[in-house]
Amino acid sequence: MPEAALPLPVSSLPRSLGGTLLRGLEGKCPRCGGTHLFDGFVKPVERCRLCGQNWTLHAADDFPAYLAILITGHVMAPVIIALGLNTDLSLGAMMAIVGLMALVMLIGLLRPAKGAIIAFQWWMGMHGFAARPGRREAIPE
Ligand SMILES: [Zn+2]
Repeated sequence: MPEAALPLPVSSLPRSLGGTLLRGLEGKCPRCGGTHLFDGFVKPVERCRLCGQNWTLHAADDFPAYLAILITGHVMAPVIIALGLNTDLSLGAMMAIVGLMALVMLIGLLRPAKGAIIAFQWWMGMHGFAARPGRREAIPE
């Protein structure tokens, strides 16, 4: 039988989807916000060491990468156009600048995107997560 997450005080639980997503974006446990969500770069911890929430139940799959690519593409397109219209950079210099910027953005967005997606799935009670978290699971303060 899987170990259940520990009940939390009402003040520790996120009050809204926005608050939950913010915790995920910051790489914090979406449920308690007290500790890290990730063990490696994009590998979530098996269980939150403070609240006991099981984070292996998520199914983010490739969606964080798709989201990071989508955001990077939408930011980079105007940058590429502006560089092309306003500078006299050689093709090689332009490719180096754009390639490096895209790589930095993609790597920088991957972890926050995965955190937000895991937080979203937890809030919505998707996949292996329990039904939508709410005050009913909280202990009175
Ligand atoms: Zn936690």
